[in-house]
Amino acid sequence: MSALVAGLFTGGCQCGAVRYRATARHKSASICHCRMCQKAVGGYFAALCRLPDDRLTWTRGQPAVFASSDQADRGFCRDCGTPLFYRWKGGGFTSVTLGSLDDTQAVAPNHQFGIEGRVPFLAGLASLPGDETTEEEMPDDAPAIAATNHQHPDHDTDHWP
Ligand SMILES: [Zn+2]
Ligand SMILES: [Zn+2]
Repeated sequence: MSALVAGLFTGGCQCGAVRYRATARHKSASICHCRMCQKAVGGYFAALCRLPDDRLTWTRGQPAVFASSDQADRGFCRDCGTPLFYRWKGGGFTSVTLGSLDDTQAVAPNHQFGIEGRVPFLAGLASLPGDETTEEEMPDDAPAIAATNHQHPDHDTDHWP
């Protein structure tokens, strides 16, 4: 948990209404299986990267916040619903969701929390039979999907859409 990775972290939500940037060393990256994190991201676990609050800037829009307890906030885009962060109040850090980073491979988690909530089939997911996305599964539909893609690209833009 003590690995320090220096870098520029940029990311945002799916629709592009909320974007962030941090120039920082992230203190830890982790996944959390606790029930609150499962609900907050709508998945089996939250993947998070802790960034110092004073190095994190919201460069477009502002996230909406839900206080999942009196101790912690969850940030998300009010327009498209993308989960964007977990923040322990007064902790000085904001943990952005690793899936909202522009480069999802920039940071690898190095710890797990909330393992009491870990689904028992998690370890087997990576060995399930697999296909690639629409190009493989729906080749006839892929051009139309690409042509009507409303997802913000994985970099900052001057105007969107
Ligand atoms: Zn959005
Ligand atoms: Zn959690």
